[in-house]
Amino acid sequence: MITNKKIPTQEEIEKDFQEFFRKKYGDGVSVSLGRVAGPHVSPDQPEEEPPEPQKTFDLKFDLKPKDIKKYLDRYVIKQDDAKKALAIAVCDHYNHVRECHENPEAADTDYSKQNIVMLGPTGVGKTYLIRHIAKLIGVPFVKADATRFSETGYVGANVDDLIRELVAQADDNLELAQYGIIYLDEADKISTPPNIIGRDVSGRGVQIGLLKLMEETEVDLRGGNDVASQMRAAMEFQKSGKVDKEVINTRHILFIISGAFTGMEKIIKNRMHQSRIGFNADVASQKDDTAQYLEHVTPKDFIDFGFEPEFIGRLPVHVVCSELAVDDLFYILKHSEGSIIRQYENAFRAYGITVLFSDCGLRRIAEKAIEQKTGARALMTVCEKVLRNYKFELPSTGVVEFVVTAEVVDDPDSQLKKITEDTDYNRNTVMHEQVRRYEARFYADHDLKIAFDAAATEAICERASAQEKSISQVCDDILKSYQHGLNLIKQNTGQSSFTFPKEVVENPDPVLEEWIRESYTTKR
Ligand code: ADP
Repeated sequence: MITNKKIPTQEEIEKDFQEFFRKKYGDGVSVSLGRVAGPHVSPDQPEEEPPEPQKTFDLKFDLKPKDIKKYLDRYVIKQDDAKKALAIAVCDHYNHVRECHENPEAADTDYSKQNIVMLGPTGVGKTYLIRHIAKLIGVPFVKADATRFSETGYVGANVDDLIRELVAQADDNLELAQYGIIYLDEADKISTPPNIIGRDVSGRGVQIGLLKLMEETEVDLRGGNDVASQMRAAMEFQKSGKVDKEVINTRHILFIISGAFTGMEKIIKNRMHQSRIGFNADVASQKDDTAQYLEHVTPKDFIDFGFEPEFIGRLPVHVVCSELAVDDLFYILKHSEGSIIRQYENAFRAYGITVLFSDCGLRRIAEKAIEQKTGARALMTVCEKVLRNYKFELPSTGVVEFVVTAEVVDDPDSQLKKITEDTDYNRNTVMHEQVRRYEARFYADHDLKIAFDAAATEAICERASAQEKSISQVCDDILKSYQHGLNLIKQNTGQSSFTFPKEVVENPDPVLEEWIRESYTTKR
């Protein structure tokens, strides 16, 4: 990792970027480097910058759990407990890998690998977390659905194929592949609930196959259903009369299995109610929140769910991801570094069009997405549906800028018609959004929450049009003395949030003076 080079902080870079883009393109363009701030930031975050992803795994692994958590915070919203548990397990695992590498003799043979089970509904970030961890550490990552496999490999794939895929992901670098991460989704589908008569043998067989991989085994890279490697081996045999065996040891591969585990909460609930040992009255009395129960999952619950004791015994780390609410989805759109909004901004930018997502628009997208019950996955579905015709039509019109408002999300087609046919309407909507963005910047820069009311906003837009100035210039002119004045009021009264009526736009200084005077009479 590059640590000896002085790099600017994210705030410094973001400020420079904002300044550059504002100068170049005016208010319409705002650049976010996606800093995650606000309600989901844990108070215990250290001041240092989060680490940057490794190009390739470094055996001198030196990350600490907090480094990993901080990195994940940039992309993954919420799931704080999951991030912590994962960060600890991943550090334990790769610290052990380092120790084995540095001192093979002394490596503790009794060490039990920190393989992980992740529980939680679909679309809440389970895969996303692991993908980012693999990227940060620089190890190859393979994701597969457990339902793909069969015991024999005749019908479905063979579990050994996972290892071969890992090698392919590592560009045939065997050394790197042996430190990779294998992520098996829909693992709950390979359980064999005991109430099924005769037990579903194939699920059990897959578990046993995986068990071998998770413990330690050597997988022949030429085997299985990998046609390409079989052909290579056949050709090699033709040439030399023998085939060198290429194997990979699975000792250091980290396994993560995940699933929704629907019905698990009932098993836990029954256990907790039946036995007073470990029974937590608080949990039982709380509303029936699945995640609340899942947090108390034990190996026995997994066995009751239909897993083999040996299999679940190899997965000591249990991580629960909880459902996402509307606020979380809004936050993902607005602040996550991987937000799909950036994709749309880029897609329109390719045609010279600036798309501005208003907060109300984003919230409406989040509200619509939550109805689909597929977590954050639904955000893309909603956006695609809303913006498909915009992507098709707008590049062939003169529109260079538009806003995704709540109205656009609710009724995309009629709004598209208005945007393309009514230039004044579109310009006005864009200017309104620019006022909202000015308010947000003012808050970010000065820690003072300001809001122009509807009449004030209208007046600002009229002035910007009449004087052919940008919204930000007009607002700057109006609020010349306000930063200082409002801070004075804040000192006197503690007030930090201000709504500006039209008079502020028309007569800024007298209004401010009056407010300051009042603040001395109501001084704390
Ligand atoms: P699952 O929990 O089913 O594995 P994923 O992790 O694949 O879901 O999530 C699907 C997509 O939704 C991700 O690629 C990411 O863009 C987004 N997403 C899901 N959860 C979060 C989250 N907590 N924070 C930010 N983005 C998320």
